[in-house]
Amino acid sequence: MVTIAVTAEPADEPRVAVSPETVKKLVGLGATVKVEAGAGARSRFSDETLRAQGAEIAPTAADALRDADILLKVRRPSAADVAALKPGALVIAMLDPYGDRAALQALAGSKASLFTMEFMPRITRAQSMDVLSSQANLAGYKAVVDAAAMFQQAMPMMMTAAGTVPAARAFIMGAGVAGLQAIATARRLGAQVSATDVRPASKEQVASLGGKFIAVEDEEFKQAQTAAGYAKPMSAEYQAKQAELVANHIKNQDIVITTALIPGRPAPRLITRAMVESMKPGSIIVDLAAERGGNCELTKAGEIVEHNGVRIYGPLNLAGEISVNASSLYAKNLYAFLETLIDKKEKKLAINWDDEIVKGTLVARDGAIVHPSLQGAT
Ligand code: NAD
Repeated sequence: MVTIAVTAEPADEPRVAVSPETVKKLVGLGATVKVEAGAGARSRFSDETLRAQGAEIAPTAADALRDADILLKVRRPSAADVAALKPGALVIAMLDPYGDRAALQALAGSKASLFTMEFMPRITRAQSMDVLSSQANLAGYKAVVDAAAMFQQAMPMMMTAAGTVPAARAFIMGAGVAGLQAIATARRLGAQVSATDVRPASKEQVASLGGKFIAVEDEEFKQAQTAAGYAKPMSAEYQAKQAELVANHIKNQDIVITTALIPGRPAPRLITRAMVESMKPGSIIVDLAAERGGNCELTKAGEIVEHNGVRIYGPLNLAGEISVNASSLYAKNLYAFLETLIDKKEKKLAINWDDEIVKGTLVARDGAIVHPSLQGAT
């Protein structure tokens, strides 16, 4: 019998790692699911609902963790939670693997096997386990909704007897998962949408959503996508050309949503102070890269900064603000992964340590950090 524990997340994390749907499915796999009382409350998953699907509600985290083979979390678990697990238990979460290294090392020292969902390989078989996509998609949507709410003008063009309201111009920087959803959402709200990216593959995707694609399409642009589908860091020369293009375009924009990221690096700086100063008062920038340093020079993580009448919002957990959907999708991503780790017939853990998705997500085992992309870093 496999015992799975889910404990409550910290105060700043409204999501939870299990949903009524996944409790039912995990129980169907032969697992016992122990959820700390109240853990699902901020995603509107009451203890009663989870219990009705087969979860055991544990009065405290310690009760949920006792004898657990697997701990499921959204964020990095606390050292105390991991220390309470038996040696060799699995921890599956978004561990922020490039974040606080000493704390990660300390978690590894507990001898749990740590898996991080951010490293899930972007291969067809693992699409259903791709938490970056499931959460970024929601964040892209929420960024536009928040921008529309902050913007003191209408988004769509409106022709009324009293006169015409022009459509808002929205510019999406970074057309990955979050950016594409932002384009689609801004279009649905009636904005005139343009977008930029450094990966050539994004050009067609932007166009197919009705956005106008704007980019420096030189030789470097043609090579800017890694085999894993991510952007490469661009040269200083490319960045200068890109900055010129953006400077000319951004001054006419009302709403700018930035989502540009490069795995394992600080976010590329795409909007300078001077560019902000060229924008009209009342314009809104939502910087989804705030957590990684921001795409805009003036972004302050977790804050709304006003500069010359332009407001720059650097949200830290937009997906978490639509926690009902975010938790449901995250929990399903976890379930899809767990299904590959549990032998349904024998009702026990059966991990193929050579599997690409296991190797891709395994951060630490037997007390040591083992992931190749974390070797050598301190
Ligand atoms: P991401 O969050 O790492 O980055 C967001 C976007 O920022 C990317 O499109 C990136 O190209 C862009 N960017 C980086 N530097 C930039 C710069 N200097 N200027 C402008 N834009 C810049 O990316 P993501 O959203 O996770 O998606 C990356 C790719 O992976 C996309 O092609 C996506 O469609 C693909 N993907 C594939 C799978 C799969 O095959 N299973 C799943 C999800 C996403």
